Amino acid sequence: MHATRYLIAGGGLTADAACKGIRDADTDGAVTVVAEEPHPPYSRPPLSKALWKGDDERTIWRGTAEFGVELRLGRTIVALDLAGRRAADDQGEIYSYERLLLATGGRPRRLPFGGDEVIYYRSLDDYRRLRALADADTRFLVIGGGFIGSEIAAALTMNACPVTMVFPQPGIGARIFPADLSAFLTDYYRAHGVEVLTGASVTAIEWDADKVRVTTGDGRMREADAVVAGLGIEPRVELAKAVGLPVADGIVVDDRGRVDGREDVFAAGDVARFPVAVLGGTMRVEHEDHAKSHGRRVGGNMAGADEPYDHLPFFYSDLFDLGYEAVGELDSRLQTSADWSEPRRQGVVYYLDNDGRPRGVLLWNLFGGVEAARDLIRAGEPVEPGALRERVA
Ligand SMILES: Cc1cc2nc3c(=O)[nH]c(=O)nc-3n(C[C@H](O)[C@H](O)[C@H](O)COP(=O)(O)OP(=O)(O)OC[C@H]3O[C@@H](n4cnc5c(N)ncnc54)[C@H](O)[C@@H]3O)c2cc1C
Repeated sequence: MHATRYLIAGGGLTADAACKGIRDADTDGAVTVVAEEPHPPYSRPPLSKALWKGDDERTIWRGTAEFGVELRLGRTIVALDLAGRRAADDQGEIYSYERLLLATGGRPRRLPFGGDEVIYYRSLDDYRRLRALADADTRFLVIGGGFIGSEIAAALTMNACPVTMVFPQPGIGARIFPADLSAFLTDYYRAHGVEVLTGASVTAIEWDADKVRVTTGDGRMREADAVVAGLGIEPRVELAKAVGLPVADGIVVDDRGRVDGREDVFAAGDVARFPVAVLGGTMRVEHEDHAKSHGRRVGGNMAGADEPYDHLPFFYSDLFDLGYEAVGELDSRLQTSADWSEPRRQGVVYYLDNDGRPRGVLLWNLFGGVEAARDLIRAGEPVEPGALRERVA
């Protein structure tokens, strides 16, 4: 039996931030992180960006162990006993704890065919696998036109690999960008040499020796050497579900990160559904800033800080030489209002509710405006087009 004051299930960015949050409030209570991957916590964003632009792999580590925590790597928590405050891992170790954090993140959605040869891109090991292929003149087929698909397609193309993208939406980023911006981005990829097949759902993946043949519902077929998929993630809620904790597309937490009002069970990061007072309702956010800030705040609360999480997380992406930062709810189904200093090259897109108040703000190739965008959303007033761009530019 391994006794610890704080037990963290999961070893990602959230777990790392929670360790730091615990240490803000408790300098010497025993912290144990049980992490399924064989690596200590690392940053995922560089796996689809900076590492493809020449950054060294050593830049991704979070330095978690320096906070005096015990890392149990390559182990998965498989069972919880909430009444006994115990957890078991897949190697038969039992942990007793006073406070538990579920920071189990998400696992990539998979296709029902194609097998393990398809790289569902999420981890450092996936990066290493893809990097080895990219260094061997591989032709890639990338499934998905969202965050991961678009970043990986750009990264591979910048590394001189031929890339075909396939996805069912009408354009790249169509779920979050207004239609004209998504169409611009799709053309931008094509101009950089990416073959982009829009409106195309993959219906079959067949491996033939070292080649792969991918077929789409409209009868198109492409051959490649490797397939990478970015189809989003499913929150890893199975532990919570098995012991009857509330789950609704994520583990439901309160503003302290507590689960089911309990003082001894918390959840944070990609796996947690948390209240967002300024927008009303709850959200689950799959982004770095949230993982870090939610993890840190909830870690502090595990150690008694008792502070609400009222942060409006931002997110960002780099696509070739385009980049953006965004805050709040970016959903292309909302009404949008764009304010360009140069059409589709630089500007602001506001995502509005029915009364014209911003629920989300996209800063397209415009940096340093995240705090001002948060202020606009928090103010809850109809936006004056131009206000934000002039403040930031
Ligand atoms: C390639 C890539 C690029 C990204 N780029 C950006 C970006 O540009 N901007 C941005 O804002 N966000 C980006 N993100 C998203 C961001 O990295 C995530 O939101 C963040 O990493 C989530 O952290 P997490 O710790 O909550 O979850 P995860 O990163 O999923 O970590 C959870 C960890 O826990 C482990 N685990 C799960 N269950 C158990 C268990 N039962 N026992 C033990 N261990 C377990 C998992 O194996 C995993 O290692 C990117 C993600 C990826 C994959």
